[in-house]
Amino acid sequence: MHYRRILMKLSGGAIAGDAAWGFAPIALNHIADEILGLHQAGVQVGVMVGGGNIFRGELGETWGIERAEADNIGMMATVINSLLLRGVLQARGHAEVRVMTAIPINTVAEPFIRLRAVRHLENQVIVVLAAGTGNPYVTTDYPAVQRALELRADALLAAKNGIDGIYTSDPRYDANTRRYRTVAYDTVIRNDLRALDQSAVLLARDHHLPIHVFDFDAPGAMLQICQGAHVGTRIGEEDALE
Ligand code: UDP
Repeated sequence: MHYRRILMKLSGGAIAGDAAWGFAPIALNHIADEILGLHQAGVQVGVMVGGGNIFRGELGETWGIERAEADNIGMMATVINSLLLRGVLQARGHAEVRVMTAIPINTVAEPFIRLRAVRHLENQVIVVLAAGTGNPYVTTDYPAVQRALELRADALLAAKNGIDGIYTSDPRYDANTRRYRTVAYDTVIRNDLRALDQSAVLLARDHHLPIHVFDFDAPGAMLQICQGAHVGTRIGEEDALE
């Protein structure tokens, strides 16, 4: 196996599927099957869960809600998604799953304790990470990189919906755009390629964490990446076009 331990960033959009909000049954089943497929292949899996299908901190402005408070609401949205994901994973497979949250909610989930999370992964337990960092003013992109580093994951796999890689320009508006096979962290930042928040890309760059952006709708994509196949775009040290 090319990657033995990965962290997956699951955006709320991937949970909503084709809808703008909420939970798509088909999407959730697909997410669970992809994660269980990795688990069955022996890959150790952590999942940083987003909340954008329910609430994002930036929405608070609509009602004049202070940003820090709005971000708390966003973090609670990630907790709802995390518990839902645990439920669907357990309904569709026999893997052990633990939700670990950065905001203490002791009766429903474990607190995030780094060494305990590592031990879970070593024991082939799927670790679902809720509430990001537990602090406002970031999305779940930054904590996805942070936790991937803390848990010594080999790579971050970013499951965003409607994206199959990183392009030289926005494919919706530029017919001549080209997809990167690999793209350098600095290119993503300099050209504002918006695959992930810039703060997350900077942290990954400083610690040489590979990030994969790929078509999450394609069954088996994450497993192929873990087996060393080229799928989508890898953010790393150098630029190469398809
Ligand atoms: N959030 C936060 N701190 C964190 C992680 C998330 O405040 O460490 C809040 C923030 O408001 C964010 C929301 O939770 O907008 C939901 O996360 P995100 O936007 O990353 O969801 P996604 O876009 O991945 O669905």
